[in-house]
Amino acid sequence: MDDTTTRRPCPYCAEDIAAAAIRCPHCRSRLATFDPSAWRRDHAERRVAGVAAAVAHATAVPVGAVRVGFAALTFVHLLGPALYGLGWLLIPRAAGAPSVVERTFGDAEAALRRWRGGEPTPPAPLPGGRTAC
Ligand SMILES: [Zn+2]
Repeated sequence: MDDTTTRRPCPYCAEDIAAAAIRCPHCRSRLATFDPSAWRRDHAERRVAGVAAAVAHATAVPVGAVRVGFAALTFVHLLGPALYGLGWLLIPRAAGAPSVVERTFGDAEAALRRWRGGEPTPPAPLPGGRTAC
């Protein structure tokens, strides 16, 4: 039995809902907790960098509405592209993987350590347990 067939009562309206639901289809209450570690950009709805899909999954807002929001914010001091770029930098591509910022600072720290003559740190393993050569 997977998450879509397991049922539970909604804590707000007591209607029968899927156990994995992040928003109740009856009363529209948000059921999932805000968990930044679950944010990732590799969802199936991904079109460019996956930021809109990541925000949509995390907030239970339709991905089309998130895209319209980013597009509308473009006309407010270019806030849409700025926030999209910030999401690309901070949201990891896969769950548990480092974000672009974490990877860049990790590489910079390793380079600084080598430059100072310290112990070289091993490269971070790629998703799937492989290591970069
Ligand atoms: Zn409900």
